[in-house]
Amino acid sequence: MKNTLLSLAAALAIVTSCTGDYSYKRAAKTITADELREYTRLLGDDSFMGRKPFTRGEEVSVNYLAKELANIGFSPLFGDSWFQEVPMVEITTKVNGKVVINSGNRTLELNAPDDIAIESPSMMESVKLDEVPLVFCGFGIIAPEYGWNDYEGVDVKGKCAVVLINDPGLYTGDSTLFKGRRMTYYGRWTYKYEEAARQGAAAILIIHETRGAGYDYSIPRKSSLSPGLFMEQPEGGALPCQVTGWLSAGAAATIFNAAGYDIEKLRTEACHKEYRGFEPGASISMMMTNSFQRNSSLNVAGILPGSVRPEECIVISAHWDHFGIGETEKGDSIYNGAVDNGTSMAWALEIGEAFSSMKKRPERSVILFFPTAEEQGLLGSSWFAANLPDRHEDLIACFNNDMLLPIGRMRDIMVTGYGQSELEDMLAEAAVKQDRYIMPDPHPETGMYFRSDHFPFARIGVPSLFARGNCDSREYGKTWAAEQEQLFLTERYHKPADNYYPEMDFDGITEDARAVFEVAWKIVTSDLRPAWKPGSEFANIRSPKQ
Ligand SMILES: [Zn+2]
Repeated sequence: MKNTLLSLAAALAIVTSCTGDYSYKRAAKTITADELREYTRLLGDDSFMGRKPFTRGEEVSVNYLAKELANIGFSPLFGDSWFQEVPMVEITTKVNGKVVINSGNRTLELNAPDDIAIESPSMMESVKLDEVPLVFCGFGIIAPEYGWNDYEGVDVKGKCAVVLINDPGLYTGDSTLFKGRRMTYYGRWTYKYEEAARQGAAAILIIHETRGAGYDYSIPRKSSLSPGLFMEQPEGGALPCQVTGWLSAGAAATIFNAAGYDIEKLRTEACHKEYRGFEPGASISMMMTNSFQRNSSLNVAGILPGSVRPEECIVISAHWDHFGIGETEKGDSIYNGAVDNGTSMAWALEIGEAFSSMKKRPERSVILFFPTAEEQGLLGSSWFAANLPDRHEDLIACFNNDMLLPIGRMRDIMVTGYGQSELEDMLAEAAVKQDRYIMPDPHPETGMYFRSDHFPFARIGVPSLFARGNCDSREYGKTWAAEQEQLFLTERYHKPADNYYPEMDFDGITEDARAVFEVAWKIVTSDLRPAWKPGSEFANIRSPKQ
């Protein structure tokens, strides 16, 4: 189907004289609902076996993507290979016996995972904490741009840091404190783990709170039970804490009460810049054993080299991995991931095809990137960002998508991480042409911007956009759209029911892809370098080659 369309497009290009603009509009039309549907149907087919890393489903998935990249006119990104190997280590942690806390004059026994959800990301076969002092460190944040340092004046070296989830902006309602209700990266558990490791803490425990976390305690509880998959640490790199995890709200309250403190009061106090952490007079003792399994999975990527400055690139990304074959639900055991993340891969491939259909090759390069192991913590994209391909290190922008809902044409384009970069201003212009508007993610407190594959690019300073129609159906309005999203989340998300269904409507994703294509096209055919907005956590990071 693709070849026919391409040659038809080529024939048209011969009979029409192409101005840049004309060729752009024609290229945008190669993005079609029918092709998006066909990609999604295929990628969500049982023959892909749920696209799980390290399985036969991986082979089928990455080979299909490589073949399709070649079909739409892309070249291998990694020398002559479409694949980048991502070395990973799976750590299985077993907590031996109870976790004992001495607090005030009480001895408390905590059960893992019901009271405390812990793992060990360290490469030690056994981990032992023996009456290690707890240190309360507020939100566990060092943010120079806000003049904020929760670790000032406290020594956590070799101790157990205990911190609050999210950031102070959420709890004060003060929109000028951090970013108010919008979670900054400092609010994410991943950041808190990293900062505690930098401070030399032996362990880090986050006090769970549902609103601040964006999910209830059952999520960290469940994830502490399954083995953790980590990127292989480069030798000589910074060591993670020996123990990382969460305290349930109840367990935290008990521990601090026994020492004479009230968590709610501590949280209120910790929202002030002058607040300083302290040792509440409590200690933790526990034993864990770790076992390791090394494995590797593949990132897939192709490039359409720029005609003038091929070293300058934009990245269009969508993770290929999902959960494979697992627990049977309603007679189905294949976790097909048609929406997570088949529709987004379709979106990326269609944008790529639009670029390669242009008669005049853009000055800059376009990279289509399908990372692995997103579901395990953005491992493929993090590895890529840390190991950029030779001669293509100057990344100008990243456009990513994850879980595009095929529910028809939308009036909105929801920007997750609203206010981060100028890319959204460019998107707003493209949106108006489609009679649409851009809007912030209605739940910025959940920190979704830090939870998909554009984020490792943001962390190295590459302005990154995560945007799609989501909230305002042209035909049925906002309430209906919210219901559809909720229905997906409860009935299909991370379940075998995330299949392709013929009644899916791809007209909205077509418009989403065309809008992003327009923004991306403006960047690759110019020398524009969209910037981070002032106040972004990433504004002061420079991408490696800038
Ligand atoms: Zn996903």
